[in-house]
Amino acid sequence: MKVAVYHSQQDIRIEEMPKPEICEDEILVEMKACGICGSDLMDWYLKTRAPLVLGHEPAGVIVKAGSKVRDFNVGDRVFVHHHVACLTCHYCTHGDYTLCERFHRTNIKPGGFAEYFRVPAPNLQIDTLKIPEKLSFEEATLIEPIGCCVRAFRKSGIQVGDSVVIIGAGTTGVIHTALSKIFGAAKTVVSDLFDFRLRMAEKFGADVTVNPEREDLTEVVKAETDGVGADLVIVAAPSIEAYKAGLSVCRKGGKLCVFAPTKPGEYLQISPKELFFSEIQIIPSYSTSHLETRTALELIKSGRINAKGLITHRFKLADTAEAFKTALENKESLKVIVLNR
Ligand SMILES: [Zn+2]
Ligand SMILES: [Zn+2]
Repeated sequence: MKVAVYHSQQDIRIEEMPKPEICEDEILVEMKACGICGSDLMDWYLKTRAPLVLGHEPAGVIVKAGSKVRDFNVGDRVFVHHHVACLTCHYCTHGDYTLCERFHRTNIKPGGFAEYFRVPAPNLQIDTLKIPEKLSFEEATLIEPIGCCVRAFRKSGIQVGDSVVIIGAGTTGVIHTALSKIFGAAKTVVSDLFDFRLRMAEKFGADVTVNPEREDLTEVVKAETDGVGADLVIVAAPSIEAYKAGLSVCRKGGKLCVFAPTKPGEYLQISPKELFFSEIQIIPSYSTSHLETRTALELIKSGRINAKGLITHRFKLADTAEAFKTALENKESLKVIVLNR
């Protein structure tokens, strides 16, 4: 079978690999569509693990099922979550599923950017979801990224009527925009350096958009919140500048959600004195568990989030390198997906 192998950001090759063998409690899925995630573009995060097959937002059809597989059949259309928690360890029993030791050890093989992939038993049992008939494979690829954003809102404890600022309007920033309205935000301000992305954020519910190259975000947020600042700030851009801007618009007692990691070795200076007296809460949210993927599926199915509207570019598996280049360089792109055809 054909797979797209990541050697480096500039070197993604189509290679041949044997079709994976499955055990009696596993399934083999023919990939139909798989999204490119922001983390697939973080060279520092991947280069120590390369060469590898990326792709963790896959949807496809079951083409083989082991003899002990229950509840799933050949022909079922499925979304598969690449990581699943054990549900019983100290982290899991405290609800911190994405910090579970097993979370990282579980993975689809070889990855989503392949003609076929094997789904290990834990992934099948805990977080493989059947795609409803009316949803396309493309739409189902958004389950994982939307799940990540749902988790961020749940962790942040947003309240109805809150003011929300979202910094960075890439795919997840735009998803956060849509979710802010679903979770009851009264006002959502979105900031990004690219106007195309701000227009997308407006389509997905932003009340106010700001391009910091032309306007001062702090001033805009002040004006929009009667001088108080935002109740919740979500930083979805991987830069220290974005975090500084986030802290400057967060109200006293507000929450700042860390949603995008910066490069290793980059630090944000925080004064414990200022943090103490401002009581700003810093809340990181990494990845998504089996709980939020189900919510994400419901949100897409019900039309509360227009998953299709987030996809701007589609490429064939053979053109995965070009797909990555587009996701990385084209500032008029949001979700880029790879199709197996
Ligand atoms: Zn991801
Ligand atoms: Zn666990």
